[in-house]
Amino acid sequence: MPDLPLAGRHALITGGGTGIGAAAAAHLSAAGAKLSLLGRRLEPLQVVAESFGGTAIQCDVTDSARIEAAFNEARGANGPIDLLIVNAGIAESVPFHKMTRDGWDRIIGTNLTAAFECSRAAIGDLLKSDNGRLVFVASVASLRGVPYAAHYAASKHGLLGLSRSLAAEYAKTNLTVNSVCPGYVDTPMTDQSVARVSQITGRSDADARSAITNMNASGRLVDPEAIGNVIAMLCLPLSRDINGAAITLDGGTSA
Ligand code: NDP
Repeated sequence: MPDLPLAGRHALITGGGTGIGAAAAAHLSAAGAKLSLLGRRLEPLQVVAESFGGTAIQCDVTDSARIEAAFNEARGANGPIDLLIVNAGIAESVPFHKMTRDGWDRIIGTNLTAAFECSRAAIGDLLKSDNGRLVFVASVASLRGVPYAAHYAASKHGLLGLSRSLAAEYAKTNLTVNSVCPGYVDTPMTDQSVARVSQITGRSDADARSAITNMNASGRLVDPEAIGNVIAMLCLPLSRDINGAAITLDGGTSA
């Protein structure tokens, strides 16, 4: 274990029970990190914790008081936070003229305001670590507009702005701040998008999945493991000069 590059480091992952968060857990654990896994549903977190080790902590990241308590629970179990992976997020699609203030607040609250709150809750620890890492799971929607998801694209553009600003602000410290920007990934979030498209358009599930898959220039969904791998790479001590990056994993969509 001591030979592993992240041995002894504490990684806290929001949304760590499914999809990209679970893949990040696998790759960070393989590199030796201790894991704290946060999400609203305890059961998927426990499944990941059983597979890769770690502490499952129930936390709705839109609840500020709960974030503080959950981060303290994580510190109690695994020590100060060295690596923070801000991954929890939700997506919805709706034509702009039907978008409600509630829907806007739900998306911005989960994808952007909670990212601010989680970052602020960990920043003291991250700055004390000799290789602090903050990684945001942003999106190609951080880089371009998305029809029928203006709130989602606005939240992810904001997330990238937060990421780059913190990278610039802390450039002289041992903390790096980076974002990964995936295209459509093979996760439960995409399954939900397929179901939504199928319901709204009356297309079969297979047709809806094919339409979404073809929005990636590669014509295939991104493997969540590929994103977990890049997240773990960004956390390595050797990656200390990667700061303020927006790494696309979209099969060439944003090329
Ligand atoms: P999942 O739906 O599998 O993951 C989302 C995770 O976020 C779930 O584990 C969910 O757990 C957690 N979550 C959602 N809301 C909250 C909340 N309020 N508090 C705590 N946890 C929450 O999909 P992905 O793995 O695909 O999504 C992960 C990230 O990747 C998201 O930020 C998403 O925007 C981004 N992304 C996804 C893409 C895709 O095509 N799938 C493309 C680009 C970016 P629980 O429900 O138990 O709370």
